[in-house]
Amino acid sequence: MTPAEVKRAVIRDIKGWRGTFGLNEWTLNYHFERHDDGEVATCTAHWEYHEARLTFDADQMSVKDFSRDEIRRTVLHELLHCVCDGYKRYHERALLEEMVSKLTTIVVRCWEAPEPKEK
Ligand SMILES: [Zn+2]
Repeated sequence: MTPAEVKRAVIRDIKGWRGTFGLNEWTLNYHFERHDDGEVATCTAHWEYHEARLTFDADQMSVKDFSRDEIRRTVLHELLHCVCDGYKRYHERALLEEMVSKLTTIVVRCWEAPEPKEK
């Protein structure tokens, strides 16, 4: 995907997922910028103000040949940071990162799972 296509996919995912994550009342400011630390995305959330700044390095995601699902997973991960940010005062940062990564895996499994059969 080209960086422009990555950007469009990221924006589509943010808009598509925010309601599912209960973030409709949040101000989500997203930016596309270069990250020099190797991270492809970051989230700085202010839970008490329902506001977050999300950044994505679309160039790097394009160079690393991110698939559509990897982009979704990345957006999902950053949105989960918004959801989980309020807990950080009780947890150490490393634990918070681990919790968000675990939640991301769980959510990905949920959406890959076949639809439950109706009884
Ligand atoms: Zn993270």
